[in-house]
Amino acid sequence: MAIREILIYPQHKSELRRKSAPVIKIDREIFLLIQDLKDTLSESKDGVGLASPQINIHRRVIVVRLGNESDGERQTDFPIALINPQIIESSDERKDFDGCLSFPGLFGKTIRLHYLQVKGLDPKGKPFNSVFEGFNAVVVHHEIDHLDGVLFIDRIESVNDLYIIRENERSEMAKVPYTDILSGYEGWDSPNTFISRKVA
Ligand SMILES: [Zn+2]
Repeated sequence: MAIREILIYPQHKSELRRKSAPVIKIDREIFLLIQDLKDTLSESKDGVGLASPQINIHRRVIVVRLGNESDGERQTDFPIALINPQIIESSDERKDFDGCLSFPGLFGKTIRLHYLQVKGLDPKGKPFNSVFEGFNAVVVHHEIDHLDGVLFIDRIESVNDLYIIRENERSEMAKVPYTDILSGYEGWDSPNTFISRKVA
């Protein structure tokens, strides 16, 4: 069990863009992978999910912290692991807040499904079939995307929906639009590249 280094975009673009392979057998290696994902996610106070490729292991395993949608509170203490998660039904596409541990300080509004039915295996190898709704669906969708090399910058409608929060000259926290980010971040996919890469 260990806290792993989270790969950052664009320095680790090729690793983050790689597709992950399904888990065939839940052995000790997968058990340790789940522990590392949970430990690494627990280290971050803002993170709500983490996918294996973000720690450079290309297996279809994700961990998510689910929230209780009814009272608006996010129950963030216990991440759950989903193995080989597969969306079998989805609906309710909406624009919502998004961010990613591989893009520190960057936020945006992405278009994602807010109703998902997902099947896969739990950490004991038992099949599950669960429904995720609201922001929980956003989180699960974001993490499943990682397994296919899809990043949250691919899900924005317009570059104006991306921003970073950074301290300005008057020591206030202020939104900086994407167009300013682009000039400072060498190696970013151009806006046209990632908008055209939008996947269903
Ligand atoms: Zn992410």
